[in-house]
Amino acid sequence: MAPSTLVVRRARLRDGRIVDIEVTDDRITALQPEGSGQSAPTEIDASGQLVLPAFVNVHLHLDKTRLGDRMPYDRTGTLQDGLEQTWPLKRAYTVEDIQARASEVLNTAIVHGAGFIRGFADIDPMGGLTGVDALLGLRERYSSRLQYQVAAFTQEALFRHDGTLEHLEEAVRRGVDVIAGCPQIERSADLVRKHVETCFELATANDLDLHFLADDTDDPAARSLEIITDCTEDAGWQGRVIVGHVGALSAYDHPHAVEVIRRVVDAGVVVCTNPQISLVLMGREDRGAVRRGTTRVSELLAAGARVIAAQDDVDDPYYPFGIPSQLEVAKYTAHVAHLSHPAGLDTVLDMVTTEAAKAVGLEAYGLEPGADADFNVFTVDRVSEALRLAPAPRWVVHRGVVTATTETTTWLRTE
Ligand SMILES: [Zn+2]
Repeated sequence: MAPSTLVVRRARLRDGRIVDIEVTDDRITALQPEGSGQSAPTEIDASGQLVLPAFVNVHLHLDKTRLGDRMPYDRTGTLQDGLEQTWPLKRAYTVEDIQARASEVLNTAIVHGAGFIRGFADIDPMGGLTGVDALLGLRERYSSRLQYQVAAFTQEALFRHDGTLEHLEEAVRRGVDVIAGCPQIERSADLVRKHVETCFELATANDLDLHFLADDTDDPAARSLEIITDCTEDAGWQGRVIVGHVGALSAYDHPHAVEVIRRVVDAGVVVCTNPQISLVLMGREDRGAVRRGTTRVSELLAAGARVIAAQDDVDDPYYPFGIPSQLEVAKYTAHVAHLSHPAGLDTVLDMVTTEAAKAVGLEAYGLEPGADADFNVFTVDRVSEALRLAPAPRWVVHRGVVTATTETTTWLRTE
């Protein structure tokens, strides 16, 4: 067997076992009983603390991130406000500016243990393909530090502004990994359907995965999710479609929601909840008992649907908060979906690790021999503590190489 290049000693797995993790180059080669791992040029002593596979974030608007300080003070904070306030900024976009802001967030995400990020770039006549070019330009730069995909996103609809479809087609030619639709922005139900169908035509013709911002609204009349499930089955694209937000599902009357959930399960569509942005954007017209705006996470899970969670925004025109930490996302998900019991904590952690990895087709993912050596070593010893404190990992490892370390120092007067 090839000699180890990295060994993590006394690593605590989620099932409580403490092992030595042996790594050769970019792969985990063995989990050995504590103390029996062979020596290696790089040794990490986990000291019996938790080791988790790398976090997976499938939905992050990287082109708009860190625009917060360019927003006017006099704002309403609605979805429409976020859209309109971004227009003049998009017209002024440059590749260098987007890359500087996106790099800052990618770097912070790596510090917080991200091993995979799908970055979204708007395509529309205001910003043209500047966002796509900027994010594609980061692919090579980050290739040794995380897995990275670029999604071309129709934030301003496909059929509201002339030229958007042509921009999307050009983005595909330039090499985006994913087509990301936003059908709800269209002006009519017919155009919502045409938007979804056009995204499927482009994706199937170019062998690309699909991601939709689906029914991100409190409006119980929103219907794009049903169109997406039908198109997924018709195209045979099961397992290649993720739908994000999906707030309207919570606004449907219960029998209709049950029917739509059944169609989601049958079509093999993955639902991605984005709890933070839903909490601040949805339920704005409610008075008294304001809805949370998140989708029906627990009901989807109970019906056998695949559900994951993602960080939608970091300090952008829609959301002034956010650190790119999937532990924070998991914690918010536990709050909004009432997943605060022990099994619930495991469920929300799965949503940002194993389930999210499956949703984007990562085949060699996990903490087992043969898997990619992408993992995080924490300074907490159990899942509940990781979620309670949401710390940056002490060590972040990508493909067998340490990519980030964090040490914190605190002083406290005790008398
Ligand atoms: Zn989004």
